[in-house]
Amino acid sequence: MPQALRKVVDPEDIASQSDYIAYSKSVHAHSPAIQRLLDLSEDYVPGAERGYKAGKPAVWCQANNFVPVLLYSLGVVPVAYNEMGRYSAKEDMLIAEDFYQFPVETCSMVKCTVAQWHKRLNAGTIDRILGSSSACEPFNLAWEIMRQRGYDVFNNDVIYRGPTVTGERLERLVEFTITQILDVAEWLTGQRKVDDDKLKVEIARKNRLLGKLRQVLELRRSHPFYMKTLAIILTLNVGLNNYFGKPQAYEAAIDDLILELENAPINEKEIKAAIPLVWAGGTGQEFGIYEAIDLAGGALLGLRSVPFRLYREDVPPLESMARWIYDNSIAGAGVYARNVLDSEVERLKARGVILYGYIGCSFASVDREMWRRFFHDKGLACINLEGSFQTGSPSGQVLTRIKAFVEMLAA
Ligand code: SF4
Repeated sequence: MPQALRKVVDPEDIASQSDYIAYSKSVHAHSPAIQRLLDLSEDYVPGAERGYKAGKPAVWCQANNFVPVLLYSLGVVPVAYNEMGRYSAKEDMLIAEDFYQFPVETCSMVKCTVAQWHKRLNAGTIDRILGSSSACEPFNLAWEIMRQRGYDVFNNDVIYRGPTVTGERLERLVEFTITQILDVAEWLTGQRKVDDDKLKVEIARKNRLLGKLRQVLELRRSHPFYMKTLAIILTLNVGLNNYFGKPQAYEAAIDDLILELENAPINEKEIKAAIPLVWAGGTGQEFGIYEAIDLAGGALLGLRSVPFRLYREDVPPLESMARWIYDNSIAGAGVYARNVLDSEVERLKARGVILYGYIGCSFASVDREMWRRFFHDKGLACINLEGSFQTGSPSGQVLTRIKAFVEMLAA
């Protein structure tokens, strides 16, 4: 568990992302399960790096979608490189801009990640990077640079299903993706094969956890403030994807959280006071935004990446992975994610949608604008925020806007 987490009980004392987690632990003094989930989040990257030094294989990757399912089946820990953003500061931006000559306007997530990899060169820690060409051009550039600097880098091809792709075209995509998955397995293990039984175990684990997280989300509707925004975002958007590198500990904490929520007394006043919100877009390391939602009385009950589709267990596991990719909101076209958001809005009777992205990201801003127009046409309030991947105190302007938005919904 993390060594350096200091006790932070006053939001005024927050000076770093670790402090936000420490503060969140104090806010969740009523819940040992949430405290454990926050500990797991805090120890995710350091724990994987410690494990690697002790001989446990680990790879930097996006650590979401099908990748963790595959990697765990191969005995490799998936380590989300964007989680390193929370250890970054201005100095990291300078490494990316001055040493690697990234233009200043490049997305800060990419710049933080490049700088963190730079600092780890020859440090005896994880030295392999699994990229994804579906990400974005700035990240493609980052991987190429890191390859030149000595990292062992592998990129799989773009995964994209257009909104009208069905039938034979979809079947060809599924076949292509199976070869992509085998490429990754070969790069990781030297063997172009996967162990079907181990893959089935991981698919079953993922389906089980998707079901449990759905249960958590349902229970939160009766306990909207039991689990605050930062904790649910870390638990869902990071933990559910990669289990913070510790699948059993993560699942045990989720089991305990369900028990806690089931036994917590229901407070009707609290339910009435909550302003149900849905979050769309990225969730970065700007933890102060989540804090601002809590302070303004918002209850973030739905997220774009809310668990919905299960992996099929009636087809061979490799095929199941490929089909899951194309049946899900991650298939590429923004309309898939919009449909998820829309069903969340309906299910939760949400009063507002928070659209969030990073300054310098031209890709996601197009999706966000389409979603904003869609919800506005339906008469739902939306706020479109651009933040940075900065650590430390959040930017004042973003905070002011989010507070004003939630307060407007309350009024
Ligand atoms: S926020 Fe946009 S530019 Fe930044 S890493 Fe993600 S896709 Fe790339």
